[in-house]
Amino acid sequence: MTEIVSICQSCGMPLQKPDDYGTEPDGSKSRIFCHYCYQKGTFTDPDISIKEMAGKGAAIMSEMYEIPPEKAIGFALEQLQPLKRWSGRIIPVCESCGMPLMSETDCGTEVDGTASMRYCTHCYQNGAFTDPDLTREEMIKKYAPLMAAELDIPVQKAEEMVEIFTSTLPRWK
Ligand SMILES: [Zn+2]
Ligand SMILES: [Zn+2]
Repeated sequence: MTEIVSICQSCGMPLQKPDDYGTEPDGSKSRIFCHYCYQKGTFTDPDISIKEMAGKGAAIMSEMYEIPPEKAIGFALEQLQPLKRWSGRIIPVCESCGMPLMSETDCGTEVDGTASMRYCTHCYQNGAFTDPDLTREEMIKKYAPLMAAELDIPVQKAEEMVEIFTSTLPRWK
């Protein structure tokens, strides 16, 4: 299995440029952790708990997107739980919508009926996208109101969040 991921498997930050990645003991780039979390093969904050990590992320998100703090904590925890540092394994996320593929029932299906390891059941059925003509802009318009309602934030702020989030997903690159 290739372990190339688009978000840090400790904090969830998008990994886009080579500089975003942390470093291994020999100075090479980490493939799964960001440079804030991981330097020279160790975590910069080895004893941090998932709750503390969520607290940090929530503080930033609540400032950037005007999310009420208690909503931000819950959201941050949800984002962190599937990451390798906290779940113990790399859980693939749907390359179209970002949903974690925790079990086979979350996965879409190929033409032969086998589970897709790349897309979720909502996005991909029988080897094809359920909504093949969806553009990234439409995706943002579709998800932003849901996120706005869930997090109790203005739709415009939710659009910014979905915009950044979708930029990490291979379908929209
Ligand atoms: Zn990180
Ligand atoms: Zn999906």
